Amino acid sequence: MENITASELAGLGVGTLLFCATIAAPKVDALISASQRSSLGMCKRCGNLRLIACLRCRGAGSVRKGVLSFSLVDDIYRSLGRERTQAESTPCTNCQARGRMDCPDCSKLM
Ligand SMILES: [Zn+2]
Ligand SMILES: [Zn+2]
Repeated sequence: MENITASELAGLGVGTLLFCATIAAPKVDALISASQRSSLGMCKRCGNLRLIACLRCRGAGSVRKGVLSFSLVDDIYRSLGRERTQAESTPCTNCQARGRMDCPDCSKLM
C-alpha cells in the first residue's frame, strides 16, 4: 500500500465517480429532460410533437408476421435444418403503417 500516493487515491476516487456518472447519465438525462419538458409545459411523452413512435413496429410502419412466436419458431426451423424464408412483413395495424401514433397524452387534452 505504501506505493499508492494520496493523489493516486484521489484519482481513483474521481475515476470511480466518473464511472458512476457515466452509468447514471442516461437515467439522469431522461429525468432532467422529462422534468424540463413538464416545467416548460411540454408533453412529457412526446415533447409537444404530438406523435410518438409506434410501440408495436418501433417506428418501422410494418411488422413481421407471426411476431408473437417468431423466436421460438425460428429456433425450431433452425434445429430442423431448414432456413425460414424471408420473414414477411405486414403493415402495422397499430399505427396504420405510419410508424407514428398520436401521442395519447396530447390527444387526451384535445
Ligand atoms: Zn406501428
Ligand atoms: Zn404528447
